[in-house]
Amino acid sequence: MKKVRVRFAPSPTGPLHIGGVRTALYNYLFARKMGGTFILRIEDTDRTRYVEGAEEYIMNALKWCGLEVDEGVEKGGDYGPYRQSDRKPMYAQYAEQLVKNGHAYYAYDTPEEINQMRENLKTPEDPNPKYNYASRGKMKNTLSLSESDIKALDDKGTPRIIRLKVEPNEEIIFNDIVRGEVKFSSNELDDKVLLKTDGMPTYHMANIVDDHFMEISHVIRGEEWLPSTPTHVLLYRYLGWEDTMPQFCHLPLILKPDGKGKLSKRYGAKVGIPVFPLDWMDKKEDALFMGFREQGFLPQATVNFLVFLGWNPGDTEQEIFGMQELIDAFDLKRVNKSGARFDIQKAKWFNQQYIMQTDAAELAALVRPYVEKHGHQPTDEYLAKVCDLMRERFETLNEFWDNSRYFFEEVTEYDNEKIIRKKWKPENREKMHDLKSIINRLRNFTPENIEEHVKKFMEENELGAGQVFPFLRLAVTGTTKGASIFDVMSVLDEEEVAKRLERGFEDFDKIKNA
Ligand code: GLU
Repeated sequence: MKKVRVRFAPSPTGPLHIGGVRTALYNYLFARKMGGTFILRIEDTDRTRYVEGAEEYIMNALKWCGLEVDEGVEKGGDYGPYRQSDRKPMYAQYAEQLVKNGHAYYAYDTPEEINQMRENLKTPEDPNPKYNYASRGKMKNTLSLSESDIKALDDKGTPRIIRLKVEPNEEIIFNDIVRGEVKFSSNELDDKVLLKTDGMPTYHMANIVDDHFMEISHVIRGEEWLPSTPTHVLLYRYLGWEDTMPQFCHLPLILKPDGKGKLSKRYGAKVGIPVFPLDWMDKKEDALFMGFREQGFLPQATVNFLVFLGWNPGDTEQEIFGMQELIDAFDLKRVNKSGARFDIQKAKWFNQQYIMQTDAAELAALVRPYVEKHGHQPTDEYLAKVCDLMRERFETLNEFWDNSRYFFEEVTEYDNEKIIRKKWKPENREKMHDLKSIINRLRNFTPENIEEHVKKFMEENELGAGQVFPFLRLAVTGTTKGASIFDVMSVLDEEEVAKRLERGFEDFDKIKNA
């Protein structure tokens, strides 16, 4: 069996969509599982669509997800260069070889002439006629023109391209790991352009030459490339490389949550969910497209979420898989045919599972930027204590600040003034003050000890839970929701708690009397 060599081959035309990350992930997992090689090839032959910064973005996204490349633009390797624009001189000879063997031809048509042909030939059944066996005879190419006409065009230096000559009425059959046997009729195919007027290959030509010379064993890519595959099979055949043709594996589409249509960049922007791994500032549109990283997702959780968009591990309930576990469990045969729905709630669920698992010190380092953004520099130890207490209460790192701000800032407002107006009793004021003093004087400021003394005091003074707890909470945290108040107090320390109670009770009096 051929040694496993797989490639992720993005075009640097913009940020890598989350579906592209999934393609990279499946390639990576398969390579690791099979003891093979994971290659990153940059397919940048279409210079008109080239976007500054996109290549770097792709590499950063793979690094963030922990998908280590074995051969590629940065890493190098024995099969380089790994950027197609750096391989430009390699391709023309194979296109020329196809012309010589009668499997391709030169064409001289201008874009206007091609449009004209489409106008002339279009019918209601075929609104977009192809440049193919049926139309090429009427066009300007070396199959239709006389030798003298061709010479005249060449003498004038008329720009020409090379097109694949697809024979009619052939059945093209190939095997796809996900879809099984796939059949296309050659009549459905265009005579695809292989080499452009500037000598640059098109995607099809470059992709096949590179996959051949990089000894790619499996082509694992999105379903949108399935219609190109029969053209690729013909190219392998006509170039005499069919024996070593890679195996194909087309991954299902990633769909919007309702299953209606592809998950697009527009959709993500519209509903405010990330569909990219990292933030991307789109200069042309002057718009920022959100990334999983900046939205507070952990890379391990993002990977764990993505792997299930189109794959399942079979007979197990297990959902949390670390990278090594994924490598062990991964199997291309378990990739689904049908589209996978993108559910951001599920992504958050995964993220929370990872937040729960992460060691407190590590979590503290992850949330630190969010705290520092608000102008606070807590010690590592303090931040780790807060994380440990609050970890169940945030699904993304961004939510940490909103739920935990009172550990870093004074309380300035209360989210439940109604309860203050209704239940704060001036006649209890003195008792609450005594309770504050008891809390302040506690030597052993553990949650258990605070709880014990507070409860004892309540009993002795006949204070009900409803008269005490909401007010301790509001004064210390500004909210009646959240973690256990005794835990919160213990993290904050006795001095800070006493200060907040004092101030809170004063505020409550004012609110009550207002
Ligand atoms: N350059 C293509 C892309 O942008 C690669 C498709 C393939 O893997 O063959 O996805």
